[in-house]
Order: sequence, then C-alpha cells, then structure tokens
Amino acid sequence: MEPQPKLQPLISSKRIEAAVKKLASDISQDYRDKNPVLIGVLKGSFIFMADLVRLLDFPLEVDFVRLSSYGAGKKSSGKIKLAGGLSTEIKGRDVLVIEDIVDTGLTTNYLLDYLRQKKPASVKLCALTEKPSRRKIPVRIDYLGFTVPDKFIVGYGLDFDEGFRYLPEICFLED
Ligand code: 5GP
Repeated sequence: MEPQPKLQPLISSKRIEAAVKKLASDISQDYRDKNPVLIGVLKGSFIFMADLVRLLDFPLEVDFVRLSSYGAGKKSSGKIKLAGGLSTEIKGRDVLVIEDIVDTGLTTNYLLDYLRQKKPASVKLCALTEKPSRRKIPVRIDYLGFTVPDKFIVGYGLDFDEGFRYLPEICFLED
C-alpha cells in the first residue's frame, strides 16, 4: 500500500468563508447590472463557485469548462487541453472566469486566450488562490482570495489524485 500523504492545515473554513464574502461583495459592485456569465474551471472550482454564486443577488449565468494540465499526482504534464467546452454563447457578454488556483499561469492563460477569441464584451479572472512564486506567464488576477506558498494544496474542491476535494478547509501536503 502507498503511504497516505500527511496533511497540514493552511486556510481554515472560517477564513475561506470571509474571503468568499469579500470577493462576492467586490464582484457584486462591478457586475450588478451586467448579467455576466461566470465560467467555472472544473473540477477544482466547483465548491468555490457554488459558495460564491449563492452570495451574488443579481442576474447572472453559470457555465463550466474542463481543462487538463495535470495528470495524476502533483506534477504538471505541461500540456493543456480543453476537455469539456462551453455551452453558452459569450459573444458580447461580460465573462468572469472562476479558478481554484493559478500556479504557473499556463492553464489560465490558455483559457483566457480561448475565451477572448469568442469576442466577449469583457473577460476578468477571479481566483481563490495563487502561487506567485511559480508563475511562468503573467496572468492578471482581478479578484483574489489568497496567496499561498509553494506547496501542493488540497481541500475546498482541490484534489490530490481525486482525493481530498471534500475537505472544508485548505491544507497542504507534506513532502
Ligand atoms: P497552472 O497551469 O497555473 O500551473 O495550473 C493550474 C492547475 O493546476 C489548477 O487549476 C490545478 O488543477 C492544478 N494545480 C496547481 N497547483 C495546485 C495545487 O497546489 N494543488 C492542486 N490540488 N492543484 C494544483
């Protein structure tokens, strides 16, 4: 049997809740009259997206895309593919991308380029977490929850080999 990875708490559910509230308040101010399309990046953003949209009390639409950059384990495969596309026409719409984490930035950059080709009125990015120390390509994050250290994080939707997504807090895996 593989040894179970050890988890260390990093961000409590209380802190996550407060950050999501603040993000929802900032997003509400900017998007209240825009009927935006919020695009969640699966699977990691599903809990964040669900908590966030419940705090937004104005008309909006929700869609999801699925991208793959990481294979099994903690190392990026380096190749990004769109594994599941949009079902919403975003031409002329205000789009807000909802990400779990921006790490090297390669995945987000790929997605933003893909979305911009569809001629939306605007595209902005909301990320729950980012690891700036690992950035390979500049990515502008318009709404950010937390900056995290160069550790592999899990919980609140984020996985390690499909495990740990259910944790209510964010932890990191000990090396
Ligand atoms: P990037 O292209 O920015 O390097 O990677 C983005 C994707 O890699 C994220 O959407 C996520 O799926 C995965 N990823 C990067 N860092 C972490 C991490 O610390 N924990 C988890 N669970 N996934 C990560």
